[in-house]
Amino acid sequence: MAADSPAYFTIIMLLSRLLASMGLSKDAGLQAVEPSHDPAYIASASQDFGLIVKAAPQGVLFAFSPQELASFIQSNYKSSAPLTVAARGLAHSVRGQASAKDGVVIDILSLGGNPNGTGISVSGDGTYVDVGAEQLWVDVLNVTLRSGVAPVSWTDYLYLTVGGTLSNAGISGQTFRFGPQISNVAELDVGVGDFVTCSPNENSDLFYAVLGGLGQFGIITRARIPLAPAPEGVKWIRLLYSDFAAFSKDQEFLISKNDMNDETALNYVEGSLLLSQASLDPFFSPEDQPRIVDLITKSGIVYSLEIVKHYDDQSKPTVDKDLEELLKGLGYLPDFRFEKDVTYFEFLNRVRAEEMFLRSKGLWEVPHPWLNLFVPKSGIAAFNDGVFKGIVLKKNITTGPLLVYPMNRNKWDDRMSACVPDEEIFYTVGLLHASGFDNWQSYDEQNKLVFQFCEEAGIEIKLYLLPYASKEEWSVHFGYKWDTFQQAKQQFDPKFLLSPGQKIFNDN
Ligand code: FAD
Repeated sequence: MAADSPAYFTIIMLLSRLLASMGLSKDAGLQAVEPSHDPAYIASASQDFGLIVKAAPQGVLFAFSPQELASFIQSNYKSSAPLTVAARGLAHSVRGQASAKDGVVIDILSLGGNPNGTGISVSGDGTYVDVGAEQLWVDVLNVTLRSGVAPVSWTDYLYLTVGGTLSNAGISGQTFRFGPQISNVAELDVGVGDFVTCSPNENSDLFYAVLGGLGQFGIITRARIPLAPAPEGVKWIRLLYSDFAAFSKDQEFLISKNDMNDETALNYVEGSLLLSQASLDPFFSPEDQPRIVDLITKSGIVYSLEIVKHYDDQSKPTVDKDLEELLKGLGYLPDFRFEKDVTYFEFLNRVRAEEMFLRSKGLWEVPHPWLNLFVPKSGIAAFNDGVFKGIVLKKNITTGPLLVYPMNRNKWDDRMSACVPDEEIFYTVGLLHASGFDNWQSYDEQNKLVFQFCEEAGIEIKLYLLPYASKEEWSVHFGYKWDTFQQAKQQFDPKFLLSPGQKIFNDN
């Protein structure tokens, strides 16, 4: 663990709190929790994974329990000069969304230091798990698998906190069938002055506001997540296309079979763009890579459709047969089909290997001028021509995965704060750039060209995981949800203190 990583600071602080509670340090007898002003904590809390925005808080709060957290929030709220407050999970935001300039950053990971905390607790009948908001999805997976069960909706990368992804949406290739992670929550504990439990039946206004609510309405401390039996293995397939129309037609066909209870439906559908040797991840064996690079050279862009089907020992022969039938009807390039059988854990934790590789090359802790968008289906063909071919390919500066895959709007609960395009099918597009410290601006220039193209072409995109620059732009983003969003803010955070880094109600 790096000495300046968020988790490192949390551990150091928790140890010192533990010593204090045992009477072994100079802080013994400390009762009320106050934010720390230690320059090392302030420096760490001033930045995030994006490494582009710097916003220094005046203090960092390490709270052992929801009660300590609540007591700080309440006294801050009552103060005549209250400070802005941002919950900070693992700070995997890319534009300062978990920051609180001149305010207080709450280190959510510190809640994990409480031996009597929620932790990760699978119900006796294995139908749900209660998790502290500070827990990482990878740990939720590890613990639930021991009982042969697991959540059904994931993110591509599992080293993210439960509270952080539920504040956004939490999407991946399972979303077309099971909805985003926010559609898979039964209950939450949320701190808004007092800590309250909310669900579709209890304090439902708060429940729906908080899910996808960008940290605006309270601090999540616990989530109850439904579970399903975990598969023994998965068939993981990639199919290559040189024609975008054939690729997106097949993606849309594959997500059309999306009943959650239909055992024959696929479990995961994603897609990405291959632009060069560098975009080939280790899924493609070294023997296959040269001919894929040839294909990229001939086609300019190669589109990679990625699907997964779960199985257990008993169902495997049928799954294999059904997949053969399904693939016969698709329009991929016949010699460019690649597949693997892996464990469920290996599949879900696939990005970790990539992270470790990039870390080993010093390429993980670099600026990330990411662009994540939702693009309505009606605009995706034009987006391919104008953005993928017209901007990305021509600029030729890409250095990271480029994702494009569709999802079904009816799997998103419209009562939640999260906002998606107003069409039954929409695509998520992720231009996940990693840059140098001296050239991230050129990626921002490219991102601006993308916005400009969409505006001129009349494609009504929505940003995901990125703050808009002004309240006016946020109001356009939320559209018909804006009034409800503002009312919820008035109700739950009337002093506008929470998550100022999202720039919705605050300027910094
Ligand atoms: P932070 O960055 O710490 O916080 C994000 C926001 O949530 C902030 O506004 C913060 O104030 C608020 N917040 C955090 N915790 C709480 C809480 N307990 N209560 C209330 N508000 C809170 N996202 C996807 O959907 N799908 C993906 O596949 C995906 N892959 C990713 C891969 C990588 C490598 C990275 C870096 C990010 C990825 N993300 C993905 C984005 C990720 O879901 C968000 O950045 C998420 O916010 C990360 O959680 P975090 O704990 O780091 O949140």
